[in-house]
Amino acid sequence: MSIDLAGGTIYVKGRGGAHIALLTLVSLWALAWALAWALAFTGNSAVAKEPAGTSGNVPKALAVETFLADIARSVAGDRLVVESLIPVGVDPHGFEPTPKDAKKVAACDILIVNGAGFEEFLNKLLANVGGKRSVIVAAAGLAPRGARPDEDGRHETDPHFWLDPNHVIKYVQNIRDGLVSADPGGAPGYARNAESYIAKLRALDAWIRGQVVQVPEKDRLLVTNHESLGYFADRYGFTIVGTIVPSVSTGASPSAKQLVAIIDAVKKTGARAIFLETGTNPKLARQIAQETGIKVVEGLYTHSVSGPGGDAPTYIDMIRFNTRAVVGALR
Ligand SMILES: [Zn+2]
Repeated sequence: MSIDLAGGTIYVKGRGGAHIALLTLVSLWALAWALAWALAFTGNSAVAKEPAGTSGNVPKALAVETFLADIARSVAGDRLVVESLIPVGVDPHGFEPTPKDAKKVAACDILIVNGAGFEEFLNKLLANVGGKRSVIVAAAGLAPRGARPDEDGRHETDPHFWLDPNHVIKYVQNIRDGLVSADPGGAPGYARNAESYIAKLRALDAWIRGQVVQVPEKDRLLVTNHESLGYFADRYGFTIVGTIVPSVSTGASPSAKQLVAIIDAVKKTGARAIFLETGTNPKLARQIAQETGIKVVEGLYTHSVSGPGGDAPTYIDMIRFNTRAVVGALR
């Protein structure tokens, strides 16, 4: 008997008896899951229905991703505690909230999301959670770059705005405005904190420009795991030669034909390195490297900060780490 979980569908192959036993297990699991979801909201609905900040306490803020929580903390200062929903090191593209996560969302007064379609689970989760809270969409108002069409010719929206710190200035302004409207008493502090963090982002941009000039223009070629570094590339004069996963998300895998195409693109352009984010299986990248002689650079912090003792505990550290990795491999 074998079980294949590909594509979220459970396929069971085997003889009759094993079949039924397994399906019973699956049904029991589904029932337990549904019960856990139902329990997660018992006794919480009253709290969730309160408008943000009316409980007399300082509102509770929750940012979906770790890097977004870090950016939001820089704006919130000491006035608010901002937690992150997705743990450090977990890929937000494939994130599936548990009942415990739903409980966290139900209990928050302010939810900060990236937006631009990045949080694929969000609409369903918010519908399940019910209640009222302020939702701040960090990327609101930013114009998406034209991602390449997928296999079916559909243009996907590239949600990875944060990998260009200049776009994060807009994130900070949106977060500041959202916090001010949910908690007007904190307005002067939020404005001050936002201003000082924006100054740090401008300094980061200048630092990146200073690093990137070390790479000859003809070598500013990137191959990445999925289409994640587009905004970074656009801003700092790099070209995305190709991606292993032909998507702005990480869920898909390339066909044999697409692998051949990326190998051809590497050979044709002379691209010198493939950059993989933390948590990526390097198998396909190594296969491409074997065929082409390209370097594989692993461990970029694109979708999560590191732990507190790691290489990139803050958003600004993430961008600095990635810039050093890119410039180090291509100069
Ligand atoms: Zn991504």
